[in-house]
Amino acid sequence: MIIGAMNNPHKGLIEQIHLFGEMNFDYAEVTIEHPHARPEWIERHKKDVLDALQSYNLGTLAHLPWYFSIAHPYERVQKAINSEFTQAFRAAQMLGAQKITLHTETLSPSIQSRESSMQNAVSTLKLLHKEATNMGLDLLIENLDAKSLSIEEFKTLFSQVDMGLTLDVGHTQTAKGEGLENYLRALAPRIRHVHLHDNMGQNDDHLPLGAGRMEVEKVVKALKSKYDGTITLEVHSDDPHYLEYSRQRLDILWHGKKKHLEDQNYLQP
Ligand SMILES: [Zn+2]
Repeated sequence: MIIGAMNNPHKGLIEQIHLFGEMNFDYAEVTIEHPHARPEWIERHKKDVLDALQSYNLGTLAHLPWYFSIAHPYERVQKAINSEFTQAFRAAQMLGAQKITLHTETLSPSIQSRESSMQNAVSTLKLLHKEATNMGLDLLIENLDAKSLSIEEFKTLFSQVDMGLTLDVGHTQTAKGEGLENYLRALAPRIRHVHLHDNMGQNDDHLPLGAGRMEVEKVVKALKSKYDGTITLEVHSDDPHYLEYSRQRLDILWHGKKKHLEDQNYLQP
């Protein structure tokens, strides 16, 4: 298991990479997003971003804007969105990322039926997944809540598109989430990446580990029984100490205190 952190696109990317490096993260998950990490910006600052990543030996993952539809009822709108995805794929490729995560967004059922939404999502994902694969990227789809695909709909999707899942643990634990256990039971073999953050059990709060109602120890144990890979801490707090604390907490729960301390000695001989 290795631990990463995600940039806030409203802040400078390079400064945040330095911060993640100083905190001993293993990789940065770069969300390629408006306003300060758009594909054009990344292209222009490619060398500086890569230098910053390499100076801490940080790996790279990528994330797409979470507010773009993949099932829009207007074909021309979906086409325009897809071409934005292509730009972001190129930027991800430039940064050496392999895994790239996509969020789903559905419109209100009063505008578009669930059936139409699902049908469009499958055909868009077929297209995008093929394109990403041709560019050497592993396109992953992330769970949200009732506004997005359900576990049953994910099963339908995966029977038609051979892609992986980014399991967002926090999203499974909101009032409208379907619960971590259910996701692990139904979709464990599809999980290729994980997002982890805490909440109060109602909304998608993106709190530091331990600051909400999530049973962190139980969650890490359940996760560890089915998965061993990249885990990004999606802690949305202006104070980076909460992110650092969350990293230490996850590292200790996963590897045990002894190994955590040994690794620290290794970093500061
Ligand atoms: Zn997430």
